[in-house]
Amino acid sequence: MKPEISVVIPVYNEEAGLAKLFGRLYPALDALGLSYEVLFVNDGSRDRSAAILADQFRLRPDVTRVVLFNGNYGQHMAILAGFEATRGDIVITLDADLQNPPEEIGNLIAKVREGYDYVGSIRRERQDSAWRTYASRLMNRLRERITKIKMTDQGNMLRAYGRNIIDLINQCKEVNTFIPALAYTFARNPTEIIVEHEERAAGESKYSFYSLVRLNFDLITGFSLVPLQFFSMLGILLSLASALLFALLLLRRFLLGAEVEGLFTLFAINFFLLGVILFGIGLVGEYVGRIYQQVRGRPRYVVQTILQDEPARRTVRDIGARQP
Ligand code: UDP
Ligand code: MG
Repeated sequence: MKPEISVVIPVYNEEAGLAKLFGRLYPALDALGLSYEVLFVNDGSRDRSAAILADQFRLRPDVTRVVLFNGNYGQHMAILAGFEATRGDIVITLDADLQNPPEEIGNLIAKVREGYDYVGSIRRERQDSAWRTYASRLMNRLRERITKIKMTDQGNMLRAYGRNIIDLINQCKEVNTFIPALAYTFARNPTEIIVEHEERAAGESKYSFYSLVRLNFDLITGFSLVPLQFFSMLGILLSLASALLFALLLLRRFLLGAEVEGLFTLFAINFFLLGVILFGIGLVGEYVGRIYQQVRGRPRYVVQTILQDEPARRTVRDIGARQP
């Protein structure tokens, strides 16, 4: 039995807000009058989230499925595992913290029914801390310039995808990825709608400053080589400039004699270039590190169990290794 809608929700230490989420999500989905399934992916929570999800599964086994990871693999890996398990024609992603109102799902579906296979969303008024909102706007603009991906609001997970896109994503083996961007590259007919955004219902953000930086590196390096090319271009420009400087100094040497002044200016230029070089090496390292992770070919995540109504074909399965 294939549902029309699959809703995928990654969960990491959300015990405080899950009850509220169930309280709004299920009525919102029931009100649509469509067949649906909700897929929770527990991303190795260390609190009671897994137990709460299991309870919810027992309450609504007809429409609830729960994928349990054996550890924490990150939001995007959790969503990928959810995608692998989905059966619906339209797949919706949503955060577990109620920042994405479940009542918007109907609007996303209406847009898909108009013939779009990717419906992104823009938060009308973002309810996050000021520095997050500002930094995110800056990264959004930078990404817009160096990747070819058109996303007005990259950080928002409330999105709808057609089955064709999900099937393509399921074929990808990327270790570090950013799902809305990956999906966008496969979309035939993408669009965006404006949605509400709420404050976190409970608990706090699971992203530290560090993990946000990592995530943005995944987004940029995963979808563009422009940063690398930028350093090649910079190298060419600097070589030209220093050739010019050399010619100038040589000329001066013969016209005016040797110079010793301006030593510290030279140091300043040197230190600046050193910084540029170090950043360049670091950036190359970001790409090389990702290549390394990819060639190791380890499973991207390990699913411990899937709680679902039908007899599971495999209880412990390794989706990353993809058995027949
Ligand atoms: N999340 C996850 N694994 C992680 C971090 C986050 O599954 O390692 C989930 C989290 O439970 C939530 C969603 O991803 O459902 C978004 O996380 P959060 O709300 O903390 O991010 P923010 O809204 O601050 O960007
Ligand atoms: Mg959130």
